[in-house]
Amino acid sequence: SHPAAGAPKSPTPLSAFDVSSVRADFPALHQEVNGHPLIFLDNAATTQKPQAVIDATSHFYAKDNSNIHRAAYALAERATAAFESGREKVREFLGAADKHEIIFVRGTTEGINLVAQTYGRKHIGQGDEIILTELEHHANIVPWQLLAEQTGAVIKVIPINDRGELILDEFVRLLGPKTKIVSVAHVSNSLGTVNPVETIIQIAHGRGVPVLVDGAQSTPHLPVNVQALDADFYVFSGHKVFGPTGIGAVYGKTQWLETLPPYQGGGHMIRDVRFEKTVFQHPPEKFEAGTPDIAGVVGLGSAIDYLFKVGIPSIAAYEHSLLEYATSALSTIPGLQPIGTATNKASVLSFVIPGIPNENIAKHLDRHGIAVRAGHHCALPAIRHFGLESSVRPSLAFYNTREDVDTLVSVLHRLPRK
Ligand code: PLP
Repeated sequence: SHPAAGAPKSPTPLSAFDVSSVRADFPALHQEVNGHPLIFLDNAATTQKPQAVIDATSHFYAKDNSNIHRAAYALAERATAAFESGREKVREFLGAADKHEIIFVRGTTEGINLVAQTYGRKHIGQGDEIILTELEHHANIVPWQLLAEQTGAVIKVIPINDRGELILDEFVRLLGPKTKIVSVAHVSNSLGTVNPVETIIQIAHGRGVPVLVDGAQSTPHLPVNVQALDADFYVFSGHKVFGPTGIGAVYGKTQWLETLPPYQGGGHMIRDVRFEKTVFQHPPEKFEAGTPDIAGVVGLGSAIDYLFKVGIPSIAAYEHSLLEYATSALSTIPGLQPIGTATNKASVLSFVIPGIPNENIAKHLDRHGIAVRAGHHCALPAIRHFGLESSVRPSLAFYNTREDVDTLVSVLHRLPRK
C-alpha cells in the first residue's frame, strides 16, 4: 500500500494498466543488448525517456533556443515562456501552492546542497543538531557533513530495523532543543522503504523543527503533495522521473525562501549590482544564478505532462502489484536473500546470494540483456546495516512487465554456481 499524502489510493489491477502502449512511447526499451531484448531494471539510478521528452527537448533547440528573461525578441520570449511553464508544471507535480516556491537546480544533489548552504548557514551553528536517517543516499549525508564541518553542528541518525524501516521511537528520542533540521528520504534508493514522512514532519513540527524530504525515489513512483505533507523543503531529479539529466527542483515554503540567503552569486539572481552593495532578486530567481538548463526544464515539463497523462495513481498501483509479483518470484531463487523487507516499499528489489559475488550476478544478467545495478547504491550506511558492502538491485518503473520479471527470475535460476 502507498499512503501517498493527499492522493486517493487507486486500486488499478495489473491487467487494467496498458503497459504495452506505455512501452511503445520509450524508444530505448526497443533494442537488443548482447543478443537479447533489453530489460531495463536500473530505474532507481536513472529512467528511460518517452519520445515526447526527446521531441520537446530537440524542438526547443531547433526552434526556440535563446537565453531567457533578458531580451525582447520573439525567441527569447518563447524560451522564457517555455521555461516558466516548466516551473508551473513542477508546481503542479509537487502540489505546491505557488510557482515561486520552485527553484531549478541540477538535481537532488544540488538541491540538498542548496538547502544545507542557505538554511544551514543562516540557522545552524556550533553544537546545533541535524537529524538524518541510516538509510539516506550519500547526497543526503555529505552536504550536511560539509555544513557540520563549517559550523560545528552535530549529525544525529535515526536507525533502521532489520526490515529496513525507520525506528520512529528513536527519532522522537533524538529530537531535542538543539535540533535545527530533519532531512529524510521519502523512499530509500537502496532498500525501497517508503518512509512515513507525513508522521515525521508532524512530529518535527511539533517541536518547531523544519523538514527536508529527499524525493529522488518517490517522485517516479508515488503521487506527492508537499502541502498535504506540510514539507518545508522537497527535492527531486528530472532524470529519475523520465526527464533529462542535469535538471531538478527544490520546493521551499515561501516563508523560508523569502528569508534565506542566496546559494550561488552571479547573473540573473540580482536586481542591482554596485561594488558597494548588490540587491538580490525575489525567490525563486534569488537562488538561480547564471543561465539555467533551459532545455532541461522544457524536457522536465514534458516528462511531467507525460506522467499526468498516464496517471500517477495508476502508475503507483501498477508498480505496487508488479513489486509484489517480483518479490514472490525472486523468493524462488535458491539462497537469495532480500535486503530491505519493509511493509511499505516502492520499486526496489535489493538482494544478495551468499557465495556468488554481486558483480558476477549483474554481469550474468547483462549477458542476457538485463540491466541491474550491483554496488553500494551510494547508500553505504544502509547497506552496511545488513553486514554488506554491496547488493544487486533490480528496480522497477511503470514500463516494466511481468514478463521482464519472469525473464529476470529464469536467468537467475540459471546462474553459474560453483
Ligand atoms: N537521493 C536519493 C534517494 C537518490 O536515489 C539519488 C540518486 O540516486 C539522489 C539523492 C541523488 O540524485 P542525483 O544524482 O540525481 O542528484
